[in-house]
Amino acid sequence: MRKKIIAGNWKMNNSNAESVSLIQSLLKYNFAKDIRIIIAPSFTQLSLINEKLQNSNIEVASQNMHFADNGAYTGEISSSMIKSSGVSITILGHSERRTFFNETDEILKEKVDRALNENMEIIFCVGEQLSDRKSGNHFDHIKSQLEKAVFNQPDISWKNIIIAYEPIWAIGTGETASPNQVQEMHLFIRNIVSENYNKSIANSVSIIYGGSVKPSNAKDIFSQLDVDGGLIGGASLNSNDFAAIVNAS
Ligand code: PEP
Repeated sequence: MRKKIIAGNWKMNNSNAESVSLIQSLLKYNFAKDIRIIIAPSFTQLSLINEKLQNSNIEVASQNMHFADNGAYTGEISSSMIKSSGVSITILGHSERRTFFNETDEILKEKVDRALNENMEIIFCVGEQLSDRKSGNHFDHIKSQLEKAVFNQPDISWKNIIIAYEPIWAIGTGETASPNQVQEMHLFIRNIVSENYNKSIANSVSIIYGGSVKPSNAKDIFSQLDVDGGLIGGASLNSNDFAAIVNAS
């Protein structure tokens, strides 16, 4: 039985004080123990937020990670730095990283390799542009993103891989994929994991959805058979909304 996962991606938002206040509000909720809740603050707040969440069942992830472990990469952050903040989960391949920071499938493969070799857990994001969906190319596009960065990983690494399906046209736009569109893509992803690996890995991998999830649409999306939770952007910045989304899972 796959546990539901609700991950909040705070992106480049919140001062330290705002983040602490948001965490304090979240800690007042008594979330069900069988839901994994993950928060991804900015790099500068990883240690701070991790400390505040000690003794809670909320985990912390980083929003990105470099593929090298150290060296002349000004402004970047490595897996060992993230781990030394007490964090061992990272988001990789978010469409904003792919689009604004030119992260290619090749770069992402190196990042995925590094993270998994360092025994980190990854939330690997894939998603199509509206033009891909309109032209009917969305399944091939998602397949290609998975083939280039995660389908070359050994079976053993799949215990540390979470897939986030995030159609780009639905991120931060207020437009959400319909529950049927989400289920259809999640089932497609599970089936290709099965073809490339086996049924057991396909049945155990968590596939979460991201793209304008709100309290009002969360239940319909999360109740789909192959949807194992969500990656939440905008709504994760409001404790009431985020809590309502967690409680809808
Ligand atoms: C995201 O950035 O991963 C995301 C899903 O954002 P939003 O919920 O704001 O669409």
